[in-house]
Amino acid sequence: MRKNYIMTPGPVPISEEVLMEHGRPLMHHRSPEFSKIFIEVTDKLKKFMQTSNDVLILTSSGTGAMEAAVTNTFSVGDKVLVINAGNFGERFKKISAKFGLNVIALDYEWGDNANPADVKKSLDENPDIKGVMVQHSETSTGVINDIEAISKVVKGYPALMIVDAISGIGASELKVDEWSLDIVCGGSQKALSAPTGISFISLSPRACEAIEKSNIPKFYFDLTAAKKYSEKTPPQTPWTPGISIIVAMNKALDMFFEEGRENVYRRHRTLALAVQRACEKLGLELLVKDPGKRGVSVTSINVPEGIDGKLLTKTMRVKYGVTVAGGQGKLTGLIFRIGHLGYVGIFDVLIAISALEFALKEQGWKFELGAGVVEVEKVFMENNYLNE
Ligand SMILES: *Cc1c(COP(=O)(O)O)cnc(C)c1O
Repeated sequence: MRKNYIMTPGPVPISEEVLMEHGRPLMHHRSPEFSKIFIEVTDKLKKFMQTSNDVLILTSSGTGAMEAAVTNTFSVGDKVLVINAGNFGERFKKISAKFGLNVIALDYEWGDNANPADVKKSLDENPDIKGVMVQHSETSTGVINDIEAISKVVKGYPALMIVDAISGIGASELKVDEWSLDIVCGGSQKALSAPTGISFISLSPRACEAIEKSNIPKFYFDLTAAKKYSEKTPPQTPWTPGISIIVAMNKALDMFFEEGRENVYRRHRTLALAVQRACEKLGLELLVKDPGKRGVSVTSINVPEGIDGKLLTKTMRVKYGVTVAGGQGKLTGLIFRIGHLGYVGIFDVLIAISALEFALKEQGWKFELGAGVVEVEKVFMENNYLNE
């Protein structure tokens, strides 16, 4: 018998409560029963995102919301600044280039995060930049960007502030209105711990104005259509949405508010710290050297010399049922990533570290068996995690 555990930064484990909602008999998307849920989910998403801006629900993975942000806000030839510190920064670059934007990239080493002073310099050098795009949590490396500080810089210029918060929002602080974020993208399968397939996007009044002027062709991801349908009575989507996923998200959002925003953030901080300290105890090195730059959604660990990283993650998955993520893009084979995002608690982390220890031992890595597990327990005790 092998029990399976998903310890990746998306998709993430789903609670029984949310799965039960997901399994309810299908409703029609133009029915009063579904309308009621659709209205509730939209309202709860606004609260979740801490915004009074419009929030639109799209049926796609997170990348759809990223594409919608690009194709609806700009016109062909517009200059944009893409902050790029990893695979998802690369994705914003690729999408922007594909739709004919003039991309200025602010590239960082993978494992580093963005410096607001560099953003200011780029904006000073290119006063015609129409938008700045950045990841909140760069999932390919595990860094977090200081969105508040970057947005403060961008506020002094006409550019729109566009944030891919897909793996960050709901795990660490992001205040859409207070930080003046024009467009923010999120996804159902990250911190919310709902099934995959829904993305959501918030639009400030300034973003809505930009949308009216955009000339890039789009159809499925036309936010003008999505907005028009969201303003109907009752609110709807232009095309058939992922009905069951939205129903499941309603429960997932309730669970977020029941636990409480601060408690959710604190749980993520403790889980991240436990994984980091356990890995260091096992003699492994973390990709992100500066603890101040580490996010709480995922931890990237360097594959040490003498260890086959691909075999390591395969052993964890096939033999012990624990799925962790490998490296993406240029970090493929060089790192592996343990997700501790969403519906994840102390015992999930203990299991992941335990499986890691077994897999490392099988390749002859030297450490005291159990050292990582003990370290996880110590972090939980030191942080009073067990008394909550
Ligand atoms: C998961 C993720 C995405 C979206 O990926 P999808 O596979 O399309 O859901 C985008 N950006 C970041 C930072 C992510 O973590």
